[in-house]
Amino acid sequence: MTELTKVRKVQVTEVGPRDGIQADATFVPTQHKIAWINRLIEAGVPRIEATSFVAPRAVPQLADAAEVMKGVKRSKDTILAALVPNARGAIRAAEAGVDQIVVFMSASESHNRKNVNCSVAESLKAFEEVAKIAGDAGIPVHGAIATAFGCPFEGDVAVEAVAKIARAYQDMGFVGMTFGDTTGMATPPLVLQRVQAVREAAPKLYQVLHFHNTRGVGLANVMAGLAEGVDRYESAFGGTGGCPFVPRATGNICTEDLLYLLDEMGIETGIDLRKMMDLACDVQAVLGRELPGQLMKAGLRLDVHPMESVRTATG
Ligand code: ZN
Repeated sequence: MTELTKVRKVQVTEVGPRDGIQADATFVPTQHKIAWINRLIEAGVPRIEATSFVAPRAVPQLADAAEVMKGVKRSKDTILAALVPNARGAIRAAEAGVDQIVVFMSASESHNRKNVNCSVAESLKAFEEVAKIAGDAGIPVHGAIATAFGCPFEGDVAVEAVAKIARAYQDMGFVGMTFGDTTGMATPPLVLQRVQAVREAAPKLYQVLHFHNTRGVGLANVMAGLAEGVDRYESAFGGTGGCPFVPRATGNICTEDLLYLLDEMGIETGIDLRKMMDLACDVQAVLGRELPGQLMKAGLRLDVHPMESVRTATG
């Protein structure tokens, strides 16, 4: 039998409070966001992407970033990370007391221009200032690379382009990097190829995989990562989130579904899955639409049902 996983312990980052809801047209009241993050901490989630210090005009959903950070009951066991687009965001994030700053850019020129309105080189240049501000405040910086597996405007993205950015992150003293796949273009062979290339180009960075289930292979990509020895993944409660370029696309891989897979493989996460399933149901109620998460609907595999709960067995 071949080994399905090279790792026995995984750090799951919950991105629901930021990535999961940022595109939702309806503003989620601040007290809900705070309550969700508190419940994630309570469930044992080791790292949470809590919010984003972008211009409130650009992302109205996250205009309450500072209030959210202020309202959360912090724990030494949970890293609260926040996205920042530039130096201004870094200053706000530092003032709000985040544990980690996450910067982001795309590996493809056209996506980066569309997303943050500057070239790849300009993004990297701007991050030097962010790194300086974070360094002065004693906050570690983590770098995400969007379109790491393909670009909706350019198609394939060269593995060298991804490796080069990772190398620049390492040179700026970042602690880790995320392979972002917002448009759901990753496949297991691409995961192996890119993880290996970045490991070679930037061996000091820890690697995180962030998949969307856009084309139904989100968890298959996780399996590829596990087989390659990657022990950090990002996911969102209920499978929230989406992609503006793929209308009606399924969002981030779902945290409960991911935890179920990891639990069944005997991989330790330290997270209480039942609490996460309850939370996903509450998030669904607040957002007022059906979420794509599957475990929250089907339950765990050994959850038994009373026989009289169904009239006849049909198949
Ligand atoms: Zn995402």
